[in-house]
Amino acid sequence: MDHYTVIGNPVKHSRSPAMHARFAELAGDNISYDRTLAPLDGFTDTMNRLAAEGYKGANVTVPFKEEAYRWASQLTARAKQAGAVNTLALQKDSSWLGDNTDGAGLVADLKRLGAALRGSNILVIGAGGATRGILGPLVEEAPASLVVANRTESKAEQLAALFNISAHSFADLAGQRFDIIINATAASLSDELPPVTSSIFDGASLAYDLVYKPAGTVFEQWAKAHGCHASSDGLGMLVAQGAESFSLWRQRQPNWQQVLNEMKEG
Ligand code: NAP
Repeated sequence: MDHYTVIGNPVKHSRSPAMHARFAELAGDNISYDRTLAPLDGFTDTMNRLAAEGYKGANVTVPFKEEAYRWASQLTARAKQAGAVNTLALQKDSSWLGDNTDGAGLVADLKRLGAALRGSNILVIGAGGATRGILGPLVEEAPASLVVANRTESKAEQLAALFNISAHSFADLAGQRFDIIINATAASLSDELPPVTSSIFDGASLAYDLVYKPAGTVFEQWAKAHGCHASSDGLGMLVAQGAESFSLWRQRQPNWQQVLNEMKEG
C-alpha cells in the first residue's frame, strides 16, 4: 500500500486524511493517508524522514509551503509561478516534484458555482501564501481586470508586479465595482472582516471566502447584506485542490463534487 500524508503545524484539524481516504475509496484504490506534525524549524528533517520511510507523496500546509518549494527537486510551472508548493510527489527516478494545486482548486470551484471568469472584474483581498497560488490560475482565465488589495500594501504591490496586475490600497477600493470578490485573508478564521468598504459588494455576483466554516463565514454574511448576489466559503476549493493532488499521485481524477457534497452533509 502506498503512504501519503499532510504535513503542517498545526495539522490536527486537517480534513485532508478523511478526504483522500474517500477519494481512494471511490476510485477503488488502496492508500494510507495520515497527518504529520513537523516542528516549526523542522520541515526539512521531517520530509527527509518521510522520504526515507517510503512515503510517496505529501500535501503541505501552513506554514511550510515556501520551504516545500525549496525542498522539492523539481517544480511544475504553476508552483514556480506561485513560489510555493502544496503538493509533493515522488517520481520514478526518486526525485520529488513540487506542485501548487491551490489555484486550480479555486478556479474549479468558482466554475462549479457558475462564475463567469472570462471578461469579469475580480478583486482578491489578501496577499499571503494562498494569494500567491491563486493569482496565476486566475490570470489564465482572462478576466477583464484582476485587482489585489492587502492590509500591508507593499505585499499587494509585490504580487501585482509579479503577476502583471493592479494593486490597490484598501482605501482606494471606495467607489470601485467588481463582479467577483475573493477574500484570501485569514480574517474569517477569527470572525473578523478585512477593513474594506462594503460598497465593493454593490452589484457583485459572487463573494468567495477561502476560509471554510460549517455555518459560513462572517465575510459571506457581510457581502450578502451589502448587495452581493451569492457567496461561498472555501470548502469546495479545499476538496478540488485535494483532487488535483490525488490525480498527480494516482493518475486518476476523483469525483470531488461528490466528496464535497458528502463533506457538507457532515
Ligand atoms: P498567510 O500567508 O498567513 O496570509 C494571511 C493574509 O491574511 C495576509 O494577506 C494578511 O494581511 C491577511 N489578514 C490576516 N488577518 C487579517 C485581518 N484581520 N484583516 C485583514 N487582513 C488580514 O495565509 P495564507 O496561506 O495566504 O492563507 C489565507 C487564508 O486562506 C487562511 O485562512 C487559509 O486557511 C485559507 N486557505 C484556504 C484554502 C482552501 O483550500 N480553502 C487554501 C489555502 C489557504 P497582512 O499581509 O497585512 O498581514
